[in-house]
Amino acid sequence: MIIKKLSTLLLFLVLVLASCSKEEGNSKKDNADKIQVIATYSIIYDIVKNVGGDRVEVHSLAPVGSNPHEYDPLPLDVQLTTDADIVFYNGLNLEGGNSWFEKLLLTTEKTGKEAPVYRLSDGVDPMHLTSKGKESEEDPHAWLDIRNGIKYAENAKIGLIKVDPKHADVYEKNAKEYIEKLENLHQEAVERYSKIPQEQRLLITSEGAFKYFSEAYGFEAAYIWEINSENQGSPEQVSTLVDFIRSKKDPVLFVETSIDPRSMEMVSSETDVPIFGKVFTDSIGKSGEDGDTYIKMMEWNIDTIYRGLTEK
Ligand SMILES: [Zn+2]
Repeated sequence: MIIKKLSTLLLFLVLVLASCSKEEGNSKKDNADKIQVIATYSIIYDIVKNVGGDRVEVHSLAPVGSNPHEYDPLPLDVQLTTDADIVFYNGLNLEGGNSWFEKLLLTTEKTGKEAPVYRLSDGVDPMHLTSKGKESEEDPHAWLDIRNGIKYAENAKIGLIKVDPKHADVYEKNAKEYIEKLENLHQEAVERYSKIPQEQRLLITSEGAFKYFSEAYGFEAAYIWEINSENQGSPEQVSTLVDFIRSKKDPVLFVETSIDPRSMEMVSSETDVPIFGKVFTDSIGKSGEDGDTYIKMMEWNIDTIYRGLTEK
């Protein structure tokens, strides 16, 4: 009797162990089979995930909520970039703040013509900074015009097909579905904003990140500092914007989620104009919170800006 019980128990254990090792084997195989992708920051991380679907495992270097203009890669970032099948970056001077990305590519030997490193802003018509002495520098925030987000998705598709041509049909299908959603969202923004009188379309934020957005959707943009890689919120920058706001009728202030809000709070208290709400510029929201994908952050921005300019 005891022997029988023991042998049943042994059989049970053997089965459990066998199923465990089988599962582990499968998931290892799945992982090894996936394309290992590096994205320099969270917005392109999300775009690449949408185009790559189940075929990719994506790691974002600058984490959600952080400033991708300047970033110090961690040892894990170096390891994952070394092992990556493909690397996607924004370009247009985004990752150039302290040359962090260029240095990372050198360290991980992902340089040269054959390196699987793709610039997602290829095909974007670049806009330039306007501050004195910076006119030759490109403004990186192209993704805030959804039509450029569509170019990013197309470039992600091209890159993924190059490194994983066997699954070209998967990337084609994912990209098509994703781009359709982006086209609808762009159209929605154009229609909604057409209801706001031109003289009311003034967008005031901390960083001058809304050049592409303003051109796409017909806004004037004002800001405290022009780009996050420069001095942020000096007394001179704050007082220039305060004077500008005082000269405007019913201005509305917005503050970005990926910057220190104190400068805009100072502008708000000096002008007695409240901050209407948050907008997403250089990062998507934290997983499970507002704006946690590129589409959701753009929906949030479109809606918040519309309400800010119409509800006051
Ligand atoms: Zn920025």
